Amino acid sequence: MDLQALKQRAAARIDDAARALDDLALAIHDRPETAFEERFASAALADFVGSQGYPVTRGAGGLETAFVSETKNGSGPTVAICCEYDALPGIGHGCGHNLIATSAVGAYLGVAAVSRELKGAIRLIGTPAEEGGAGKVKLHAAGVFKDVDAAVMFHPADADVLDPLMVALRVLDVEFRGKAAHAAASPYDGVNALDALMLGWGAMSALRQLVRSDTRIHGMITDGGQASNIIPERAAARIIVRAADPSYLGEVRRRVLACFEGAATATGAELRYEWGEAMDMVTTNQPMAAAFLANARSLGRELGPRRAGETSGSTDMGNISSLIPSIHPFLSVSEGRIPWHSRDFAAAARTPRALETMHVAAKALAFTAIDLLARPDLLKQAKDSFAARPRSS
Ligand SMILES: [Zn+2]
Repeated sequence: MDLQALKQRAAARIDDAARALDDLALAIHDRPETAFEERFASAALADFVGSQGYPVTRGAGGLETAFVSETKNGSGPTVAICCEYDALPGIGHGCGHNLIATSAVGAYLGVAAVSRELKGAIRLIGTPAEEGGAGKVKLHAAGVFKDVDAAVMFHPADADVLDPLMVALRVLDVEFRGKAAHAAASPYDGVNALDALMLGWGAMSALRQLVRSDTRIHGMITDGGQASNIIPERAAARIIVRAADPSYLGEVRRRVLACFEGAATATGAELRYEWGEAMDMVTTNQPMAAAFLANARSLGRELGPRRAGETSGSTDMGNISSLIPSIHPFLSVSEGRIPWHSRDFAAAARTPRALETMHVAAKALAFTAIDLLARPDLLKQAKDSFAARPRSS
């Protein structure tokens, strides 16, 4: 089997589809949809894959906006390509998931075009709700990643990074219950739930100075009271705690919670809390990353190491990387530095440069999937490396 010839054919297929992929990426960008609401994006992507002659299962894993398409030839390994398409409230595609979506579809078309010469399956998985909701975790639990030997995707960024530091995360919902009273006539009859929350918040802010540099503690107040002339009887916040080291994350979680417990003691308000969504740190599979690096290099892109001291957020792909050999490399869509989750990044996610990067990503992902399906030695290395990985719990 001539691997180079297969990759050239896959690249030619992606070039053929490039215009349609660009149109899709821009259409999804124009209609940003948040977690689990991505009805336009998932339908547009699934329709396009179907129009190219591939079977599509919509509503995969019981999630309305998920979909799966698989092309299989005989028995062999299964490689999954993850396709994200959700946006952020208020600022749209400030994380560039419109480009993740079309790079994944392009990569799938490329591999599927040569699938008769490969043994095994290529599975495109439309994964909703990366920005909160952990869609991939739900899809994995529903069996959508069943029999997947390796999973790949790319994320747009402002630098080309092979193995970014994407840390573990835990969501904490806190709620204080106090006692309502007239804020002028008899405030002394009340218990101020908002004051409790603000005291806890202040303690949490002070804690930020005392944690390791890869730790992040942030959030928003979701309920600050009911009326300004009532002593607030309820106040609530959603906090996110992140750190690279899982045992350290556990320590920071205890300390964050203690801030709010202390505030409850100080005010007499009752604290209720719940630890929610959890994301694992991304564990980059090094043999797969090396294959992606070589493939990107063959397309003229050189991926570097992560920037020192930099944390790149968190992703539900981290949870997949704990279960299946995976990669989640970054390719830049901008000239200069542009932070994610900003209006500037949303603007950068629809430029000619962004679309060109999306084409490169589609090809590099397709080539890497072809390597994994055609080279049992590479898949074995990936699995050996996965088995030897440091465990996160
Ligand atoms: Zn993202």
